[in-house]
Amino acid sequence: MNVKTELTARLDAGSRRSDVLLVHTGGTIGMGMTPSGLAPVAGLLERAVESYGSADMAVTVVSFDPLVDSADITHEHWNRIVALIEAWDGTGVIVTHGTDTMSFTGAALSQALSGLAIPVVLCGAMQPLGTGGDAEDNLKLALGATRHQPAGVWLAFAGRILPAAGLVKHHTHRADAFRAVLPVPQASERRFRRFGPVRLAVMTIAPGLSGEVLAAMLAALDGAVLRLFGAGTIPGEPALLAALQGAMARGCRLRAVSQCEQGGLSPGAYAAGAALWQIGVENGEAETPEAALIRLWLDLSHRDGSEPVRL
Ligand code: ASP
Repeated sequence: MNVKTELTARLDAGSRRSDVLLVHTGGTIGMGMTPSGLAPVAGLLERAVESYGSADMAVTVVSFDPLVDSADITHEHWNRIVALIEAWDGTGVIVTHGTDTMSFTGAALSQALSGLAIPVVLCGAMQPLGTGGDAEDNLKLALGATRHQPAGVWLAFAGRILPAAGLVKHHTHRADAFRAVLPVPQASERRFRRFGPVRLAVMTIAPGLSGEVLAAMLAALDGAVLRLFGAGTIPGEPALLAALQGAMARGCRLRAVSQCEQGGLSPGAYAAGAALWQIGVENGEAETPEAALIRLWLDLSHRDGSEPVRL
């Protein structure tokens, strides 16, 4: 990871200077066309930020090397972002990121950065910079948001600032591609956590899923998010329940959420889900699958009270 650009603008007498860190991870916003499709281009984002420099804002850009399509984001990238934010003593942070896994990174930063004292603003785009699309406006929106948003983790996208804890990417092409279904987490004591190398998956319950397949998948995991039907039901096939029970008996964490985007689970509403709560599957309530995954990830990374490797 290299520091690519440092823009320190003149200060006008009496003006309040913003000191913004911009962590550029990659994503469409900074991509160009290659023979195999869009891919990150080094320097593109830095040039755009330079052209928006203002007299009362200093922007330090730290770019990942290599830049990534957000399909390649891992917990190690989240740890690097957390470490950079922890070390930053300025007034705000922007994280430029691909839209495909923005909801995972939004949940990761929202939960890992408890007690954050400054705004952290995620930003991306559906079209690259310099193509007449949404990138320039989203970047300017994010720069402005670092001045006026309260402390917390946000997404600046399509003219709106959304809380990033429960984002849903609901469209693959439209500029207005996101909505937020969870609020900013409540303020708490400052505690910045890192992610360890735990084995997790998000699993969707569907008609036809066999107990054998479910057991085989769970056998390789430390925890799983189960996407249940509606208010919290699964098929009555006894082998499915046995697979869940077997996994829990060896310490695998199972956290349930709904396949519906909003409304959350209602344990006890239907007999078809009753056994889940009897065996102790965790109720993720209205969490998005991403938020539930991150909750398990952080809990399991710190289960013995220790801190995982600090990157
Ligand atoms: N595949 C891209 C990414 O997630 C999509 C985007 O940025 O919009 O990096």
